Amino acid sequence: MDRTFRALLVTGGAGFIGSNFIRYLFGLDDFTGTIINVDALSYAGSRESLADVEERYGSSAGTLVRSGSSRDQAARYAFRMADIRDRSALNELFDEFDVDGIVNFAAETHVDRSIAGPAEFVQANIVGCQTLLDVARQRWKGRGDRLFHQVSTDEVFGTLGETGSFNEDSPYSPRSPYSASKASADFMVRAYGHSYGLPATISNCGNNYGPYQHPEKFIPRMIVKLLAGEPLPVYGDGLQVRDWLHVNDHARALWLILRRGQEGRSYAVGGGNERANMALVHRLIDLVAEEAGKDTASLRSLIENVPDRPGHDRRYAIDSARIRTELGWAPAIGFDDGLRETVRWYRDHSAWVTELLAKGTHA
Ligand code: NAD
Repeated sequence: MDRTFRALLVTGGAGFIGSNFIRYLFGLDDFTGTIINVDALSYAGSRESLADVEERYGSSAGTLVRSGSSRDQAARYAFRMADIRDRSALNELFDEFDVDGIVNFAAETHVDRSIAGPAEFVQANIVGCQTLLDVARQRWKGRGDRLFHQVSTDEVFGTLGETGSFNEDSPYSPRSPYSASKASADFMVRAYGHSYGLPATISNCGNNYGPYQHPEKFIPRMIVKLLAGEPLPVYGDGLQVRDWLHVNDHARALWLILRRGQEGRSYAVGGGNERANMALVHRLIDLVAEEAGKDTASLRSLIENVPDRPGHDRRYAIDSARIRTELGWAPAIGFDDGLRETVRWYRDHSAWVTELLAKGTHA
């Protein structure tokens, strides 16, 4: 039977995937609950990313629906600024809401930043996840009708050669402080499942793209620089291969796992869109030229090869057979259509980009 959620705690919901996930859920007929978005608003988080949701579903739109209260009112969204390492803040949320599901997006996420300063990644990604698990364990007291979902990455599996793909049985072999911290969190989630019976699932997804992604990440960075006519830094030979998935296809996969995923199970999620970075840059150049009326040749001249990231993983690819066969998931957004829509979004949202960049960026 499908799980239902009346009060879903979403952490890191002011970030890229979390904000898209929250917007996606409010567009569904089969989600009628309340979402509590808990985010520390680091440099990567912005409340602006959910301004539309806040206006439509936030408490200014009516009395917030809490556990046991009538759901006649419109308000179904609450934002709380808090760090997932803050146990007392989390306990207050559990006092306020009868939380029946947790989706943990909150994390430090930029590989380059993790190489420059790993300690923050240990704090947010490992200590944060463990604190959240511990509060859930204590507050849920062995109830089997709750679910903790950990949003993880394919980077925990390390790197691939020319062929093959990762699936749920691939050995963990993280190679950056970021992926090592995400791998540690996955192990902690598994341990809470085995040691305390905490109902939990994990998803290991490939690279996401789409609206509201921080402009320090590869695709938005290239688009923003192309729109501004600035040099495009491409690491090394540009032949690193990533498996891309539109963020809304990821959101749909997460919702399927939340409703029907098997407790204790991991799900590998990928779009089957393997592209070398340099090929992707060339496609983005074509799209920006078309969508922003720019000259293709002068955009191509902006490409600049810069020294490679230390220990740069060469290739990621994902075999999503489990989620496809067990949960009936398949990506619905074609890569080229998704890229074009993303280019248009960044072209039309320069104020959002400026606001995020003003909070500080690594590169
Ligand atoms: P993001 O950097 O855009 O957002 C992360 C959010 O977490 C931000 O809003 C930030 O303020 C918040 N945050 C950070 N530390 C926090 C803390 N200690 N307490 C509360 N909030 C905190 O990241 P994203 O790209 O949206 O990624 C979300 C999750 O998905 C991460 O766990 C990431 O590892 C995972 N993931 C990302 C991708 C991808 O391609 N972006 C792919 C697979 C998995």
